[in-house]
Amino acid sequence: MTAIDFYGKKLNAYRANLHTHSTRSDGKFTPDEILKLYSDEGYDVMCMTDHMRTSNIGELDPHGMLLLPGVELHPAGGRIRRAHLLGVNVPEDFDTSVADFTAEGDNKMQQVIDAVNAAGGLCYFAHPYWCGFRSDEIAPLRGLAGIEVYNTSTRYIGRQYNMQIWDELCDMGLPFPALAVDDVHRPRDLFMGWTEICCEERTRECVADALKRGSFYSTQGPKFKRLSFKDGIFEAEFTPVVTALGISNQCRGFCAGTPNFTGDGTAPEITGCRFEIANLFKPLKACVKCDYLRCQIVDAQGRHAWSNPIRIG
Ligand SMILES: [Zn+2]
Ligand SMILES: [Zn+2]
Repeated sequence: MTAIDFYGKKLNAYRANLHTHSTRSDGKFTPDEILKLYSDEGYDVMCMTDHMRTSNIGELDPHGMLLLPGVELHPAGGRIRRAHLLGVNVPEDFDTSVADFTAEGDNKMQQVIDAVNAAGGLCYFAHPYWCGFRSDEIAPLRGLAGIEVYNTSTRYIGRQYNMQIWDELCDMGLPFPALAVDDVHRPRDLFMGWTEICCEERTRECVADALKRGSFYSTQGPKFKRLSFKDGIFEAEFTPVVTALGISNQCRGFCAGTPNFTGDGTAPEITGCRFEIANLFKPLKACVKCDYLRCQIVDAQGRHAWSNPIRIG
């Protein structure tokens, strides 16, 4: 746990992995093994999300962490035969049959999102790039809590990042919060992307509420210490990085630090950025309507962190 000034509130940032598999589905670690590994690494919160199977978290040793029940659901996804939707904080008796595989071409994604929400959970669109989904297939869905911007386990074929799909959705007026997760199945998936949940205390209610409000950021390593948006000025402070981007609609955005990141160790490091929103509208003042901004930082090892989009207009 670390401290963060989150848009004027002094909060705790709890390190969380919200996408976890075990031997209860296709993971290589037993639930106890995987929980001990993450606890030893200093994680504060874990969500168990086996495929089509909830976990009775009351029967597990949390090894000092807060455990959230969860599940990964696989409804028919239309053009893509099987979608991957993450249900976080769903009750342990959640009926997964809502996502039973149906005929080719069917699309049951909305029904599954509705069922997760009706059960009081949060539904995230998991690794859309790896699945092959386009942003225009995600945009019509209602009730998503967000998407995954980074997923460690899908890096084996280079599809771990979902930043372009995220920005396309933001451009369509859907500024979703975005998680970084390990989606851990095997030893090579451990500890490479996580979510820092920003709230007052580490209770199930507080953490779920923070997730719902987008009160978190996602990272592969760099940490935000302060995020601020006041009087048309966005500011952030963070651990040393080489690039800080302010990403807004279409071609509009900001860059602090070194834009042409090469990873050769020669780029100077920065620990803060300050972006004046009014500058987004120059020189093509009337060309693009800017209504969101998100901050993306990259450290000298090429590791990213992502703040959630805020509305600026
Ligand atoms: Zn998946
Ligand atoms: Zn998974």
